[in-house]
Amino acid sequence: MKRTLYVVIPCYNEEEVLPETTRRLAGKMASLMERGLISVKSRVALVNDGSKDRTWELICACHRDNPLFCGIDLSKNRGHQNALLAGLMTVKEHADMVISMDADLQDDIDAMDEMVLKYLDGCDIVYGVRNKRKTDSFFKRVTAEGFYRVMNFLGANTVFNHADYRLMSRRALEGLESFGEVNLFLRGIVPMIGYRTDTVLYERSERFAGESKYPLKKMISFALEGITSLSVKPIRFITGLGFLVFLASLVMFVYILVRFFTGNTVTGWSSVAASVWLFGGLMLLALGVVGEYIGKIYLEVKHRPRFIVRSFLHDQEQEEQEKR
Ligand code: UDP
Ligand code: MG
Repeated sequence: MKRTLYVVIPCYNEEEVLPETTRRLAGKMASLMERGLISVKSRVALVNDGSKDRTWELICACHRDNPLFCGIDLSKNRGHQNALLAGLMTVKEHADMVISMDADLQDDIDAMDEMVLKYLDGCDIVYGVRNKRKTDSFFKRVTAEGFYRVMNFLGANTVFNHADYRLMSRRALEGLESFGEVNLFLRGIVPMIGYRTDTVLYERSERFAGESKYPLKKMISFALEGITSLSVKPIRFITGLGFLVFLASLVMFVYILVRFFTGNTVTGWSSVAASVWLFGGLMLLALGVVGEYIGKIYLEVKHRPRFIVRSFLHDQEQEEQEKR
């Protein structure tokens, strides 16, 4: 069985955590190699997502000191999902399996052992699932829980309490590559790939240092992105709502006609004003939802690149280039 593991880590302004993350990963990779679970050609790929701090300098230094680490520098900040995809696609041809995780040590590194064992057992995708979220704030827990529920209600099949900590085999990565969408929501797309999957439970800890790059505003837009790129139910919902309002207005129309012909016309402007505002609001909302999808189509048809790699620091790559 082929056993070359690549760990892909998107990093955006992570200078505070990187030294610790790389130290712990070096230990973990060495122990996995010692146990013969992964080959000595295994690597850790740190993706610099257009950081404004010294992240890239740190990555270069890591690569210089220890060939275990390779670096991928993106041309600009493209966001977590794109940075992750860039990492996965760049290392794909070197790896037999890839584990993706965040730079902040919130994902338990020790869960990697079990992921690799499940891969060796024949799984193509192993999801890291948080069994408790007590270290996340109450607010984050509630919003995240609501998010998964809404997603599933809307028909987008995501794994409950799974973020982007997962193992994928090379053929699963090839499957992922064939999903060419520009609006990327990996958590929703990976379950569509199929193959044998399994989960590994772990406890999510607090961010080791630095602060979350997902403030509320980004979280909301991430959730909307997820919903609209995986499901058209919101549009159906509007159609249903429109139909209900239409039925209600028919009843009202009959009522008004009856009042008119029996000689007591309904007086008052407040009900008129209220319904104008209500339906004006509903209409704008509906237009907004439809617009959201049209915007998606617009972005998809242009087929712009999802990331551009400025450089790839990799010892094997360099060896090959030197041979040529
Ligand atoms: N990240 C990234 N690009 C961005 C924002 C975040 O590559 O534009 C990375 C970040 O460095 C981290 C991961 O994505 O490794 C998850 O971000 P964070 O920990 O801030 O999110 P949270 O865990 O709070 O949801
Ligand atoms: Mg985090």
